Amino acid sequence: MPEAPNQKPAPNQPGAPPPKPLKSTLNLPQTAFPMKAGLPLHEPLRLKQWQDSGLYGQIRRARAGSPRYILHDGPPYANGAIHLGHALNKTLKDFVVKTKTMAGFDAPYVPGWDCHGLPIEIKVDEQLGRKKLQMDPVAVRRACRQYAQKYLDLQRSQFIRMGIFGRWERPYSTMDYEYEARIAESFFHFFERGFVFKGLKPVSWCIHDRTALAEAEVEYANHTSPSVYVRYKLTSDPAAIFGSSTESGAPSSRPNLGAKVGDAPQNPIFTIIWTTTPWTLPASLAVAFHPDFEYVALATDDATYIVSATLAPSVVAACSLGEVKEVARFKGSALDRTTFQHPFLDRSILGTNATYVTDDTGTGAVHTAPAHGVDDFATGKRYDLPEVQYVDDAGRQSHTERFGGGVPQPYEGLTVFKSNPVIIELLKEKGALLATANLEHSYPHCWRCHNPVITRATEQWFIAMDTPMRAPDGSETTFRDRALAEIKTVTWDPVWGQERITNMVTTRPDWCISRQRIWGVPIAVFLCGKCSTPLRDPAINKQIVDLFMRESADAWYIHTPEELLPAGTACNACGHTVFRKEMDILDVWFESGASSHAVLDFDPDVQQAPNDPDPRADLYAEGGDQHRGWFMSSLLCSIGMHNRAPFKSVATYGWTLDEKGRALSKSLGNFIDPVAIMDQLGGDIVRLWVASVDFREDVVASLPLLKRLAEEIYRKLRNTFRFMLGNLHDFDPATNMVEDFSKLEPLDQYMLARTAELTKKITTAYTEFEFHRVYHALNEFCNSELSALYLDVLKDRLYTFAPNHPARRSAQTVIYKITEALARLTAPILSFTADEVWQSLPPLANRPTSVHLTLFPKPEDLSSTDTKQLEEDWAALIEVRIRVLKILETERSEKRIGKSLDCVLSLSARANYPGSFYDALKKYEMNLAELFGVSSVQLGSFNNNPEVGGLLSIVPIAVNNSRRCDRCWRYTFDVGHSSAYPTVCLRCAEALDAIDFPPYATNV
Ligand SMILES: [Zn+2]
Ligand SMILES: [Zn+2]
Ligand SMILES: [Zn+2]
Repeated sequence: MPEAPNQKPAPNQPGAPPPKPLKSTLNLPQTAFPMKAGLPLHEPLRLKQWQDSGLYGQIRRARAGSPRYILHDGPPYANGAIHLGHALNKTLKDFVVKTKTMAGFDAPYVPGWDCHGLPIEIKVDEQLGRKKLQMDPVAVRRACRQYAQKYLDLQRSQFIRMGIFGRWERPYSTMDYEYEARIAESFFHFFERGFVFKGLKPVSWCIHDRTALAEAEVEYANHTSPSVYVRYKLTSDPAAIFGSSTESGAPSSRPNLGAKVGDAPQNPIFTIIWTTTPWTLPASLAVAFHPDFEYVALATDDATYIVSATLAPSVVAACSLGEVKEVARFKGSALDRTTFQHPFLDRSILGTNATYVTDDTGTGAVHTAPAHGVDDFATGKRYDLPEVQYVDDAGRQSHTERFGGGVPQPYEGLTVFKSNPVIIELLKEKGALLATANLEHSYPHCWRCHNPVITRATEQWFIAMDTPMRAPDGSETTFRDRALAEIKTVTWDPVWGQERITNMVTTRPDWCISRQRIWGVPIAVFLCGKCSTPLRDPAINKQIVDLFMRESADAWYIHTPEELLPAGTACNACGHTVFRKEMDILDVWFESGASSHAVLDFDPDVQQAPNDPDPRADLYAEGGDQHRGWFMSSLLCSIGMHNRAPFKSVATYGWTLDEKGRALSKSLGNFIDPVAIMDQLGGDIVRLWVASVDFREDVVASLPLLKRLAEEIYRKLRNTFRFMLGNLHDFDPATNMVEDFSKLEPLDQYMLARTAELTKKITTAYTEFEFHRVYHALNEFCNSELSALYLDVLKDRLYTFAPNHPARRSAQTVIYKITEALARLTAPILSFTADEVWQSLPPLANRPTSVHLTLFPKPEDLSSTDTKQLEEDWAALIEVRIRVLKILETERSEKRIGKSLDCVLSLSARANYPGSFYDALKKYEMNLAELFGVSSVQLGSFNNNPEVGGLLSIVPIAVNNSRRCDRCWRYTFDVGHSSAYPTVCLRCAEALDAIDFPPYATNV
């Protein structure tokens, strides 16, 4: 930042000193805008000012009637203080809302919270401890509600502290009575239209939390599992496989391709399965073979083994089978409908065919437990196998006596992972174990408790992805295909989001929407007490929605079916009149996904205008992991409710990582608490950090980086503002403004043109959510154009000219316009500082009280449109300036000259040559001394002078034939020409006269 010239009394200056020091006559900057920001102290005061003046309400009223821009807030989970990811999320949204507002849109922001679900219930369980055993579900729900409210309040205060504007006093939350009712309403909408079924299905199950998990709640991590090779003895007629002639008419359709036909082996025949979940073996019902793979029969001394031909060598090695002889070769289709003996239970195992069998690992023979695998379940359905299920909610092997001849199996009561070694021991005992080892592999874990999960068939409620439905044009389609079609109508930013969510929707299984917990919205369905058929009565469902609206979803736990159902209600299926309530609750993803209905359909503050042909929200913006989470559930809920996507565009951001690319965590010691940063450095520093990163990628944060932002970048911006405000201390925009662009000094005109250019660049970047480009453009402008050039050059004019000199007013006009424009352009990012700048501008009637009530500046309001030549000329002059300053610097460091003002610059340029600087230099010859900061410039030209060479010759010469002005320190020939002010130049004399400075004598 330029400093005021250091006005020491000059030595060797003849004459008596003037009555007051001349320094006091300089127009030095004055401002109350402090250099030291004190953001941690001052931001809360500004927040209070915003709150007291109802700023958000004022903004809403000011924009009423403008085109709407709806950013629908994805609700964070209310179970802790905010972390840096929250800060990034809310700040980015605030950037969008503020930039749209300042671009003239009516852009409301209604924040939301996700308040139900397992993490809160578990925390409350921990807090209640044994007390919970005596509490009824309603009391537990109340405790959960209090817990969620506490963190909603905490997070709200933290978001407000960050300078995020929104309807904070009335956010939405998934535990609002009305929201709970709307969730139930959304569910009933699906339920009444046949999308919902209750069925046994294998789902990811957390045995620690005792609940089913949605796909989005499963994460992969390394886990060590015991892998076992187990032999299953063939019990059906081998001839069916080996194509032996003993079976009459051994059908040629039995594709014993290449079989070395002969009698079936006399030794016992086995197949070998390989599994990493020995605990599922009690539920083993089948072995699956790929119908098209080749299988071989390998004979050892005492047995024959059937395995995939491809995998045979690795199986022989792993199981140490020793010398083997291939005795037959056939396709897997030959093994369909064969039977085997279960390795330790009295059960027949069916040979089946399935195309998901692979030949890259294992044996090509896949142990199949329909209760414990999605593929297995499908095979079980095709072959009509029962779903044998021993594993209970807590993951314990139970009721094993059913296949133990009435005696419990040795693994009875053990959790699945603990039952593994017992089962391996049992296999060994039964002679069925061929090999065992430990295998570390990527394995699904619960995202809440981080324990490994299992697959388990349970009774769950589902939304069927392939439910038939109609497209808006009336054509027949399915729920899944509607979702895929709607994805194409949405703008995905970054674009890869579209492919990601398309793949997820294409392959996702039916949506398991039930959870076996308390803290949520119940699946409010009545089940027949006799046949369990769900009651489907829209009128009754409507009454439940109204009830939840009045009493919250707690009502489901308070009232009995008799209280809730009209007298005489009977089961549609069996006529029975006694009902029970379904006590499962809905998946929280269904709850937040229903926000397009619960919030956008009913809250007038975030609805598109009634006449808007496209009622979708303009933007959903969340982390890139939400394609499988909130974006997906919102899409599906909205298609169910409205047959359209809920959003026009979806933007995602990356993870916050440290400089080494590691996630931020307390245990790694790289955790960054945004609240601590605000207390230490300020909310604007957090905001500046968000603007500095390219959010579409993973973003880097560290304490040193934030400190550097505060100490370098922010300080520079602040000091630039401070310098400009300081030079406006005697500027009254109403009376001192130079209104006519053509009357401005040429450099000032040029700077307005540059500011108009910057405005265009920044507002475009805002439109494209390229906030980091705004950040870089701002820094570049403040450093290169303002600080290093314009404000540096202006010092002489601002400080030494008469206060009301037209050239000084010209400079002030432009500084005023730049400050005013920059305050508005930075307001979405530096929301506190920009408003502080705004309120430090010289007073002007009718100016809005806060920068946040203004619109972005328009380029055409800043500058004349016809500035092409001007900009070209000055770009050339600035190029020359850079070279001049370099030469002056060299001369100075080699002690050949003193200050720049102690120089006369001899400048020659090659004329009449393409790319020559001469024309611009000549045109603005009068401005060159100011531009270069020297006492005077002697401009000359040359034509292809071989002695000079190049385009320019720059020679600084120490002044020796003129006097230095005692006030402005320039050397001029007119110092002493004024009899009233004999030690100064005529320009300064004029300035002194203008401020009625008393004349003084000299003793020359
Ligand atoms: Zn868990
Ligand atoms: Zn019934
Ligand atoms: Zn002077």
